[in-house]
Amino acid sequence: MIGVAILGSTGSIGLSTLDVIQRHPDRFQVIALTAHTNVERMWQQVQHYQPCYVAMTEDNAANQLRERVLSAGLDTAVLSGALALETLVALPEVDSVMAAIVGIAGLPSSLAAARAGKRVLLANKESLVVAGALFMQEVERHQALLLPIDSEHNALFQCMPSDRSTAAGIRRILLTASGGPFRQYDLAQLAQVTPAQACAHPNWSMGPKISVDSATMMNKGLEVIEAHWLFGLTAEQIEVVVHPQSIVHSLVDYLDGSVLAQLGNPDMRTPIAHALAWPQRIDSGVAPLDLCALARLDFAAPDLQRFRCLQLAYDAVNTGGSAPAVLNGANEAAVAAFLDGRMAFLQIPEAIDYALQRMSHDQADSLEHLQAIDRQSRELVTTFMARGD
Ligand code: NAD
Ligand code: MG
Repeated sequence: MIGVAILGSTGSIGLSTLDVIQRHPDRFQVIALTAHTNVERMWQQVQHYQPCYVAMTEDNAANQLRERVLSAGLDTAVLSGALALETLVALPEVDSVMAAIVGIAGLPSSLAAARAGKRVLLANKESLVVAGALFMQEVERHQALLLPIDSEHNALFQCMPSDRSTAAGIRRILLTASGGPFRQYDLAQLAQVTPAQACAHPNWSMGPKISVDSATMMNKGLEVIEAHWLFGLTAEQIEVVVHPQSIVHSLVDYLDGSVLAQLGNPDMRTPIAHALAWPQRIDSGVAPLDLCALARLDFAAPDLQRFRCLQLAYDAVNTGGSAPAVLNGANEAAVAAFLDGRMAFLQIPEAIDYALQRMSHDQADSLEHLQAIDRQSRELVTTFMARGD
């Protein structure tokens, strides 16, 4: 039995992970579940999976859940606060940690899982964007096993040799992007879009933050940075290709002209099942791919004028140091403001650029320093919104 902890179990990736686990009760045991505030959904999960531990990072939510667990006479221990996550990932009975919290809030716990030498199933791409050097160093130092859940990076992982020392034969990688819901909008149309439109992704069902990132194409920008750290590639070796059907999840181009791709229906249960069972293969519940029904697959170059966020992310990789952490913090603040109706869609890249230009990008090699940079970047987005010109 493999003991699993799911950080962010009430979110989109959390739910898909539980769906896969439920299909294999002989293989996986849910040891711990965590969420931020969603008591209702967590209570359903506690009754269904009867984990040994749950944590709610928000104190009121933890109290409410604890009352329900006690009055139902269940054995589940209810913890509260962000530090509880770091305790849970290090438990000896936890073998695999699904890191599926959204944003930099997921960094301390994913880093703790790496430091505990666990098998880390990383959905939280922000961890690598903010703290790539530190994270990869800790994975190596503590001999953790890092398996990417992001569908593109999971596809790349599957298309690369298991012995990375032979990865020298790679010319470049091609990251596919759906282009999001506004792929064909012009700038005048983009100026008017609403949060509801941005969250209605044509192919994937995801949480609100990554849905907006997909609509601005910052999601692909974050993924360029994620691929840079995961696979040790330069920005020049990472190319983005718009592929509206989201069937080819990414490709590796080798020096001999061979191009290896991973294909499948757009359903996160495929990369989740792959990482849960690796190096074995298990059923994920995803329908088999029907190429004849699809009939065609399209590819196009991204438009960096309409989707400025992607260019900003490439620039941040090349600048290096803490530039990706600034990019991420400013993006999180700008996306939250857009979702609240306080910022227009096209101001998102403007706000990020504003923050990037006002911060120095020195190397930051501790969690605390990176968190301080994140806070300053968010403050600069507040300044940007208040500047009134
Ligand atoms: P979501 O919004 O649906 O779920 C987020 C989860 O994180 C919830 O369980 C929530 O309770 C928890 N959470 C939120 N804020 C928290 C905080 N401050 N402290 C602790 N927990 C907190 O998000 P999602 O779509 O499942 O995405 C999760 C992560 O996976 C993101 O980093 C995203 O980029 C990545 N990802 C998602 C998808 C997808 O298809 N949804 C695909 C690739 C990568
Ligand atoms: Mg992705």
